[in-house]
Amino acid sequence: MRTLYVKFVVITIGIMILSSILAFFISNTYYQQKLKPYNDQKITKMAQSIVTFADEHPNVNLKEYLENISSIGYQIYLVDNTEEESFFGAPFREKSLSVSVKEQVLDGETYHGILHFPRKTFVTGFFANELKNTIGVPLKHQGNKYALFLRPDIKLLFNEMHFLFAWLLALTIILSIVMVVVSTKYLVKPISKLTIATKSLSRGEFNVALDVTRHDELGELSHNFLQMARKLEQMDDMRKEFISNISHDIQSPLSNIKGYTNLLEDDLLSVEERGHYISIINGEIQRLSTLTKQLLLLASLDRNDNILKKRTFNVGQQIKELVRNYQWQVSENEIMLSYSLPDIEIIGDPSLLNTVWDNLLTNAIKYNKSEGSIEISIEEREKSIMVSFEDTGIGLKDSEIERIFDRFYRVDTSRTHTVEGTGLGLSIVWTIVKMHEGHIYVNSTEKEGTTFSVELPIRC
Ligand code: ADP
Repeated sequence: MRTLYVKFVVITIGIMILSSILAFFISNTYYQQKLKPYNDQKITKMAQSIVTFADEHPNVNLKEYLENISSIGYQIYLVDNTEEESFFGAPFREKSLSVSVKEQVLDGETYHGILHFPRKTFVTGFFANELKNTIGVPLKHQGNKYALFLRPDIKLLFNEMHFLFAWLLALTIILSIVMVVVSTKYLVKPISKLTIATKSLSRGEFNVALDVTRHDELGELSHNFLQMARKLEQMDDMRKEFISNISHDIQSPLSNIKGYTNLLEDDLLSVEERGHYISIINGEIQRLSTLTKQLLLLASLDRNDNILKKRTFNVGQQIKELVRNYQWQVSENEIMLSYSLPDIEIIGDPSLLNTVWDNLLTNAIKYNKSEGSIEISIEEREKSIMVSFEDTGIGLKDSEIERIFDRFYRVDTSRTHTVEGTGLGLSIVWTIVKMHEGHIYVNSTEKEGTTFSVELPIRC
């Protein structure tokens, strides 16, 4: 398998090799363009000073003198017009040199072999130990004509340095390969961990451990991954809870209906008892019907497949109509209901928004105290309206406010005096308000009352 690790190592080493080749070509070009002429000039000067010295000191033993010069780091070739040759210093690897060159130098010309040494792809002329790669100057001594060819003895000059550089290069290459191999492992490790984490996530195991202390992109990725895992776990928990809630909410009215129909089979029941049981059965059927309607509505809201049918409508009139429908229930509960509902037109889905007001109003009635009050108002703002339902009911704790929009959440029934409900109403309200790009605010004090305020854009 071509793992990320192998790819990374191969690519890095490839880059190292490629950059070394490029660096070699660039430095070779630099030698050819800049260093070669400079080197040529330097050696020419040296050759000329040897010539001057030999000229000015006719009594000196030329061969001894040249031997001494070679020992300080030069390779020398001396030839006279009788073609008698002598070499001083380290031998040349390649000794061929055309006769015409020798003759030209004997005739007084300077030979610039270093400057004109041919370019070769992988060899810098600097290191070529060839007789052609020398500076040739004419030399006169004790009345004899010579041609003197000179080049620096690279081996002698750089011997230790050579080794040092070779070691340096070899160590650099070996160490960088080792470091690439090790550091890549360190770099790739979190990715391998992420792969393992993804696999456990797909198996439904959400408890994954990842290193989130890194301050780089991988650390951020791990951090986001953990957040995603937590979110998925919450969603999974919610799904399980949702299923168990539905099962429970369907099962309990069904078993009630079954129990009471069994009781109805008893021929000895009085008319009152029979009527009582039938009304309980009706209540349970009503509860099941509300539950399934709400579930169907939630499912279509969740699918969000163009469910919004927006048009302009008068929201004040809509709420007044709703209040009229609940008038009997309000008076039955001895609640004082007042409203300030001016005619305001907004764009929205009238049927879904009616569900919002319906839920908020029935909650304000259900969770009110007897002889309590409800106040409904619409406030028009620059670009939005604020619809408020204020009641003097049982109120909510802060911890409860945080959860009331969760599906199936119902506040402890001992406080709500076993008022019937499904715990789905407010989550439907929240979803519809969000679909209209609005906001919902809750302001509540326990035992004093609650205000739900819905802010909707006028033209959403
Ligand atoms: P339910 O069908 O139980 O009324 P909702 O989603 O409408 O479900 O409400 C969730 C819970 O929020 C309710 O069970 C109730 O405890 C609480 N609640 C809702 N409205 C009010 C209110 N006006 N005053 C006090 N508590 C409320």
